[in-house]
Amino acid sequence: MIDSARAERHRNRMQRQKEVVDAAIAKADRVQGLLLVHTGNGKGKSSSAFGMIARALGHGLRVGVAQFIKGRSDTGEEAFFRQQKNVTWHVLGEGFTWDTQDLERDIATAQRGWSVVQKMLRDPALDLIVLDELTYPLKFGWLDTAAVIHDLKNRPPMQHVVITGRAAPDALCDAADTVTEMNDIKHAFRAGIQAQKGIDL
Ligand code: ATP
Ligand code: MG
Repeated sequence: MIDSARAERHRNRMQRQKEVVDAAIAKADRVQGLLLVHTGNGKGKSSSAFGMIARALGHGLRVGVAQFIKGRSDTGEEAFFRQQKNVTWHVLGEGFTWDTQDLERDIATAQRGWSVVQKMLRDPALDLIVLDELTYPLKFGWLDTAAVIHDLKNRPPMQHVVITGRAAPDALCDAADTVTEMNDIKHAFRAGIQAQKGIDL
């Protein structure tokens, strides 16, 4: 049995909290396209971005995806989202740099990939664009970070962009509206467990 003094304290605390939350909600009165960055060494950067694709499709929005670096095309998310009529999916990487071992080719592939992204960034019919693993071509210098930020800033005002990948450059985080760093506390791979369908790919 909860005594009435405790119930009263709880009610007062919740009332104060509601005032704070309501004031914060009232203060956020702008509507605009957002730039989000998911970085850090922990798992969840790409899967969170793909979760936003599901949200967007649920609202009838149109989505474009560009995957950098990874040439593999056997992920569950690609198989699923390619079936959705409002999704356009591009795989722009040829594989990891230690697979291709050809710098000039990696640079040319990244730049060809960015020109595909530039077309999406000029298309106001696309409501959400996911640039998966874009941080790697930036980190390796295959794409010029300042030029990429310039193109991002000049996108249609209502278009949302989500960028994933480890070691996001500071300038990109500065340009973003929402930045999340996934913190690696533990990962099953290091205990010798293979990547699992539905969890890792
Ligand atoms: P996910 O796609 O699962 O959201 P991610 O995008 O955050 O992961 P990436 O760096 O793109 O992480 O790595 C993709 C793959 O590597 C996934 O199979 C993921 O489970 C695995 N992975 C992610 N973080 C780690 C880690 N800290 N140690 C080992 N493997 C990891
Ligand atoms: Mg990823």
